[in-house]
Amino acid sequence: MTFHVYNTLTREKVPFTPLEEGKVRMYNCGPTVYGRPHIGNYRSFLFADLLRRWLEYLGYQVDQVMNITDVGHLTDDDTADAGGDDKVEAQARREKRDPKEITEGYTAMFLEDMAALGVREPMARPKATEYIDEMVVMVEKLIERGHAYRVEGNVYFDVRSFPEYGKLSGNRVEDLVAGSRVEVNEEKRHPADFALWKSDPAHLMKWETVFGEHGFPGWHMECSAMAKALLGDSIDIHTGGEDNVFPHHECEIAQSACANGTPLAAVWMHAKFLQVDGGKMSKSLGNVYTVPDVVERGFEPRHLRFALLRGHYRTQINFTWAIMEEMRARLENLDEVAVLLHRVVDGESGAADAEAGRSLLGEVISGFESGMNDDLNTPVAIASLEQLRKPLLDGEVGAAVAVDALAFYRRAADALGFIETDKQSADAEVEALIEQRGAAKAAKDWAAADAARDALTALGIELQDTPEGVVWRRR
Ligand SMILES: [Zn+2]
Repeated sequence: MTFHVYNTLTREKVPFTPLEEGKVRMYNCGPTVYGRPHIGNYRSFLFADLLRRWLEYLGYQVDQVMNITDVGHLTDDDTADAGGDDKVEAQARREKRDPKEITEGYTAMFLEDMAALGVREPMARPKATEYIDEMVVMVEKLIERGHAYRVEGNVYFDVRSFPEYGKLSGNRVEDLVAGSRVEVNEEKRHPADFALWKSDPAHLMKWETVFGEHGFPGWHMECSAMAKALLGDSIDIHTGGEDNVFPHHECEIAQSACANGTPLAAVWMHAKFLQVDGGKMSKSLGNVYTVPDVVERGFEPRHLRFALLRGHYRTQINFTWAIMEEMRARLENLDEVAVLLHRVVDGESGAADAEAGRSLLGEVISGFESGMNDDLNTPVAIASLEQLRKPLLDGEVGAAVAVDALAFYRRAADALGFIETDKQSADAEVEALIEQRGAAKAAKDWAAADAARDALTALGIELQDTPEGVVWRRR
């Protein structure tokens, strides 16, 4: 089975074919950095990382860009032409700090969380404020081509100039107006038109451009311009969270197609929201959790990565602390598969027949790959990997099969990013330190013995001296 993806734009699962052979250009909408992202935000970012890893597993070179929005994302963002405060500025006022300090501080936290969650670095992480010139050029192009118009310092996109507007979200311009998902504004030719550039002398982050003295870009324009600058006019995949479908991506599609004369992305993919305690996360319920909150409860970030990726990205999944406990146990079993495979490879256990388990391995590999190829169906893929554990515990896998299984398991773990496959070597390191400590104690070299013990503590190992010798366990 070739890789199939669900394209929100056409509402169907389609075989993935890159525009250029062997290469994938992908743009992921990143965070607006006015606060530390919560675990729900990471569902969408981890989905993007999983997609990239799976494309790499399949042998593609992936040019991946994930932006950082540091200006222009206004609070009332469920309408195309959002009104309200700039999220960054509002936070700057709350914290009585400079907007730049706000965006830099929260960007650092975001990157820290992403690294903890094992997210691979994209080719670029552009910040909107660094691409103002590109945005201005694109807005000028839209004016020149008759898709946008200026009113004082504001520039609006003329939605009626792009008949496909609404295709992604299924919204019709008339319905938007009737449903008042538009802001009434006398300046606009049509109520559904949205701002590409906004003039506001009171805005803290503003630029002098051909449009006027104090302006700033519309949020949608930012992504269109950054995608073009870094990946070109046509890309393979554009992703985001389900809340990005409308208005953000709908507007991006219109702007890019009209400015570039070609569709922005062939495939649009969207991750569903995460539920927490069976509902929407909310400050009043106190369940807007961050990555540090999860770590504080004694979980590793990769447990969270597993919990967020265990469900298919387009299905609803729930987060509770009880589920996190279950996920930790499940992930430990997946880790154990690697330990058991190492043992068979090392000749410490396993079937006498080196070829035992060959057909099982074939089934596991094809189950895993067809699951992932089916629009990243992680539940199927993970369940396939889990099939290896029992036969390994029962000694039904031979050494030659284990060698191949371990090579496959490492690749699979690399694609998923949450399974540890090197526990065996970690065990060897622990045993070596315990031996060093024993030798140091025997030589009455207390400093060396303490150093070895500290190194073990740092690895999360607890020691117990028993009459039979030292017993150790992971905390
Ligand atoms: Zn975006």
